[in-house]
Amino acid sequence: FASIDKIPRAPPDRILGLTEKFNEDRNKKKVNLTVGIYKDAWGQVTTFPSVAKAQRLIDADLVLNTDLSYLPITGCPDYSEHVLNFLFKESCPLSGPKLLKEGRVSFTQTLSGTGALAVASKLLALWVSQTVWLPQPSWSNHRNIFRSNGFTNVKEYPYYKDGRITVEEWLDHLRSAVDKNSKTRDCILLHACCHNPTGLDPTKEQWKQILDTIHELGMIPIIDMAYQGLESGNPPKDAYLLRLCLDESLYKSWPHGLFVCQSFAKNMGLYGERVGSLSVVTPPFQPETKDNVDSQLKQIVRSIYSSPPGYGSRVATMVLSKSFLKMQWYKDVEFMVSRLSQVRKEMHELLEWPSLIDFDRQHGMFYYTGLNPKQINALRNDYSVYMTMDGRISLSGINDCNIEYVCKALKSVTK
Ligand code: PLP
Repeated sequence: FASIDKIPRAPPDRILGLTEKFNEDRNKKKVNLTVGIYKDAWGQVTTFPSVAKAQRLIDADLVLNTDLSYLPITGCPDYSEHVLNFLFKESCPLSGPKLLKEGRVSFTQTLSGTGALAVASKLLALWVSQTVWLPQPSWSNHRNIFRSNGFTNVKEYPYYKDGRITVEEWLDHLRSAVDKNSKTRDCILLHACCHNPTGLDPTKEQWKQILDTIHELGMIPIIDMAYQGLESGNPPKDAYLLRLCLDESLYKSWPHGLFVCQSFAKNMGLYGERVGSLSVVTPPFQPETKDNVDSQLKQIVRSIYSSPPGYGSRVATMVLSKSFLKMQWYKDVEFMVSRLSQVRKEMHELLEWPSLIDFDRQHGMFYYTGLNPKQINALRNDYSVYMTMDGRISLSGINDCNIEYVCKALKSVTK
């Protein structure tokens, strides 16, 4: 141990650090394409109509509206019920209801997707495993979260090269590096859909191959579902990886558990309200395991933030529990996704880049450009167009007023 004056400077956050720079930039034409927040065609962060209606209903309800007391440690029971129904009944109708009936899902409300990953990694590192495999590339905070919560081995599997995802290399790599006979288990992080940053996901056939390998190697899947709905515009439809994990008889028992980290930040626009969940699917016929996991989740949450915030989860519960709001929500998601894919299409046309990269297969909030750090720096320094250093553009920052400027800048730094 050293003293407080020996604490070294931590590097700035790779994404939020750029927003700080953007805020200081005096160029009137500056464009921030770094953060994954949905903005409308006028560049505004808006509240989804379904969410605004839910807020009005909460405002009108004097009981809900004035209750500022603590929530239970693992969240509001109404929230748990409706999120579990959404994830395991609506999104996984074949196997999810049985799973819930058998009492195999341990659940906690979390501080959005980041909180879900943090609680999951803390639980795993304390009791199960300190090794996790992340895709390369991945969301830059993944490594940070696993490291901070006790993972001593954060490894990478090759996910993407030259515009394509590399499933063969990925699986060969795991087969040669993971010892299936080892007493300890390795965890593996899987992006459920809209892989961040590449926007490219395996096909259903490829997912089957991947899950076969994971199952064979006795690995523990951690499904990060931060963008459910942003691929197809239909939230239940986008839970295809979860369905595959639970429906396929070969691997549905998950003897070492299956972790689902979920967030309403992007698909309900509840970013700052921090609304998400962690579901741990426990093995069959082990009620004690489920109860023990429940108790550990409680202890972890209690020791970090005691209990989650209330307001955002009330809004999400309202949206999920009233069918007219749920229908409106699905329309809102569809509308957001159609704007994002329209922007993607227009950029694709304006850029006229050679189709080296699978741009057409990319989906979700991001456009993965393949730009190198030199080009990205030139874009920032010469045009005040900000994107993350991995070459990712957040499409929602693009609109009719800036699309031509951004594409011209992109063309100029890549020529
Ligand atoms: N996982 C991925 C892949 C993400 O891109 C993000 C946010 O950008 C998150 C998880 C967590 O988001 P939040 O904590 O805002 O729900």
